[in-house]
Amino acid sequence: TLRAGVLAVQGDVSEHASAIQRAAAAHDETAEVVEIRESGLVPDCDALLLPGGESTTISRLVHREGIDEEIVAHVDAGKPVLATCAGLIVSATDAQDDRVDTLNIVDATIERNAFGRQKDSFEAPLDVSGLDEPFPAVFIRAPVIDYVGEGVDVLAAWEDRPVAIRDGPVVGTSFHPELTDDPRIHDLAFFDSVES
Ligand code: GLN
Repeated sequence: TLRAGVLAVQGDVSEHASAIQRAAAAHDETAEVVEIRESGLVPDCDALLLPGGESTTISRLVHREGIDEEIVAHVDAGKPVLATCAGLIVSATDAQDDRVDTLNIVDATIERNAFGRQKDSFEAPLDVSGLDEPFPAVFIRAPVIDYVGEGVDVLAAWEDRPVAIRDGPVVGTSFHPELTDDPRIHDLAFFDSVES
């Protein structure tokens, strides 16, 4: 059983929980989803999910509850993380916004609300390295990844900008992989790296 913590201080949780269950089932595995709202739970998790929502709020609550250092320790131990949209903003080295105190677990500079300024959301078929078929990616006031460090792999790009990246055990996406029935991004982040 994979013990997967989903950060639940703010943002969408249940869709991620079902995607994790579907990804586990595809491996004949089971997953136990733990909702993280306080410190003390992350150290027992095998994998962590940092969902979308509002990055300023998520960042504030993660620090207030003392969950920040536990997330950093999880990554230092090489355990997998999937950080989506606002979760990616909070994970970055630089969110170019003083209201977001980032975790520095993904070597990237992010610009908030940069995709879809004209249009709040859109869906696009995305080629993702490691996946055979395009992934239906839903972008909602999505962040743009402006810069990635040397050790970061770009897994997917849209309009010549990275929208899915991997920095060691952490996979980050600008889009919302939980908003379709397709669990392949959760699979890529949690099961591929757990097995390797
Ligand atoms: N605009 C949000 C932020 O900057 C992120 C959007 C999302 O998670 N869908 O926090």
